[in-house]
Amino acid sequence: MTGHWVEDETPPVILMDTRTPPMWDGVSMEWLDWTPPLTGFLCANNDLLKTSICPKCRHPWQPWWTRGHENGWKLKHHSRLQVDLERCGWCNLTLAISRWESQEPQEWVLDENDYKEQP
Ligand SMILES: [Zn+2]
Repeated sequence: MTGHWVEDETPPVILMDTRTPPMWDGVSMEWLDWTPPLTGFLCANNDLLKTSICPKCRHPWQPWWTRGHENGWKLKHHSRLQVDLERCGWCNLTLAISRWESQEPQEWVLDENDYKEQP
């Protein structure tokens, strides 16, 4: 393997694009605050930390992270839908892993349309 970026390159400390999708599959969503990239303590048991590179900007893939649930899920103590977002701090490429209950997780790349209020 060649072309690996500098290992100790640290991602931006401020996330420029903090948008999250207001709706997902027609469900109104609420989101946690963005969590900064986990750097400096690589743990073999944490599958969030893959030693890979961003497919868009080729920086190390050290994404910011947030999780969304169905709006009002805390009152119901239940969310049918859980969506994890991983966003590159350099180029804002955002991957989403969505899980409807009892279904296999699906992976997506978000685009501008995902941040619009839907009818
Ligand atoms: Zn990137």
